[in-house]
Amino acid sequence: MTLSLQNWLTAQRWYAGRGRVLSSLYESTSVRLGDDLDLKLIDAKYDNGTRDRYQVLIRWTDGPVDGYPDVATIGHDGARTAYDALYDPNAAQHLLSLVDGDATVGGLHFSKEPGADLPVGATARVIGAEQSNTSVVFGTSAIFKVFRRVTPGINPDIELNRVLARAGNGHVARLLGSFDTEIDGEPYALGMITAFAANSVEGWDMATASTRDLVTNPDGGSDFVAESRRLGEAVATVHQTLAAELGTAEEPFPVDTLLTRLGALADAVPGLAQYAPAIEERYRKLAEQSTVVQRVHGDLHLGQVLRTPEAWLVIDFEGEPGQPLPERRRPDSALRDVAGVLRSYEYAAYQQLIEGGEEPGGDEPLAVRAREWVDRNCGAFCDGYAAAMGTDPRDSGDLLAAYELDKAVYEAGYEARYRPAWLKIPMASIQRLVG
Ligand code: ATP
Ligand code: MG
Repeated sequence: MTLSLQNWLTAQRWYAGRGRVLSSLYESTSVRLGDDLDLKLIDAKYDNGTRDRYQVLIRWTDGPVDGYPDVATIGHDGARTAYDALYDPNAAQHLLSLVDGDATVGGLHFSKEPGADLPVGATARVIGAEQSNTSVVFGTSAIFKVFRRVTPGINPDIELNRVLARAGNGHVARLLGSFDTEIDGEPYALGMITAFAANSVEGWDMATASTRDLVTNPDGGSDFVAESRRLGEAVATVHQTLAAELGTAEEPFPVDTLLTRLGALADAVPGLAQYAPAIEERYRKLAEQSTVVQRVHGDLHLGQVLRTPEAWLVIDFEGEPGQPLPERRRPDSALRDVAGVLRSYEYAAYQQLIEGGEEPGGDEPLAVRAREWVDRNCGAFCDGYAAAMGTDPRDSGDLLAAYELDKAVYEAGYEARYRPAWLKIPMASIQRLVG
């Protein structure tokens, strides 16, 4: 089956080897979970010496199966066909029942959170084929996220959701269960189940609906402020719970980390070098300062928050993408999360401008209105955050600006490489922040 597995794997959205040459696939784990249902960990080796480990759930069948999208067909082995089992409602339900029963199968451990109620038997459907993981929704009450690229160590998404749920924080999707294994003495998280937020809207979609309105309607674009304030309150309570449950510490401002990122990108990104000395000066001014660090989200932006009819929820605590797990679990300033959201507001506004053929950062009427939208919503977010937290992030303005700059520099590196048309967005921000 190797050849078709390779074709299927490399075509998946979550395949991480694009830009590298795959040299071999090796099945490092294979566990029979049920009749015609296997869980396999597939090790991909690339010709530059790097490796990734992927989780694949296979449902075997000997006849044609109706209703499977092409994405789910992995390949054939003699008369049998292999499908991505997550697309098979029965297989997905079986997976859920293993969690419900706290099962141990061939070195895999399934566990239900204390007091959780799993919708065993509810209809299952895959959502998010375009995501870095694959999620199955059960009925309207639970979502099972199966990790695709698995790495050793404690998974912060499960870890922090567990802490937040057990502490009763209402601004997260409650953790209901998870499953994992151990390889060579190291833990590997394989998936997690959380309460499904039915009828929810992503923060990013709400924000861009508002900014789209802003560029098409002279009176539009102001209706997000109350939401921004409530979002600030929600993020503050999440930070409070994480601090209370997992502690805080004082650390020097990580000037070297920020300088390293800047140094690595200054010459690679067109137009960045001219700002590098001013950015560096901003960072160095903070070198003597100490900051309070705690466990944080690590990759917070408007695409990581969901508005339900009742509340804002913060999701996806996986930390900074691309970083090794220990790095992603490192305590950091809560201001880094705040900065992430503020950057996201700017993206929501400036992307609309660029799509409408306008430039961000200038003094054209639309650019000015976009800026005002950003200021209004960032202000409301900080107001809400301050009201719930008791301290205002803007009181640490220099630190906050440094984290915003660090994020904008990272974005500039990303845009220069993948979406050059949007490089203007972080560049306009950098200019504003050091200006
Ligand atoms: P990405 O690659 O986009 O970061 P991911 O694999 O890390 O995706 P998540 O970010 O956790 O997955 O979730 C992807 C999407 O699934 C979310 O943007 C949201 O639309 C939906 N989603 C996730 N969790 C829930 C939930 N508890 N309730 C409702 N929808 C959810
Ligand atoms: Mg996500």
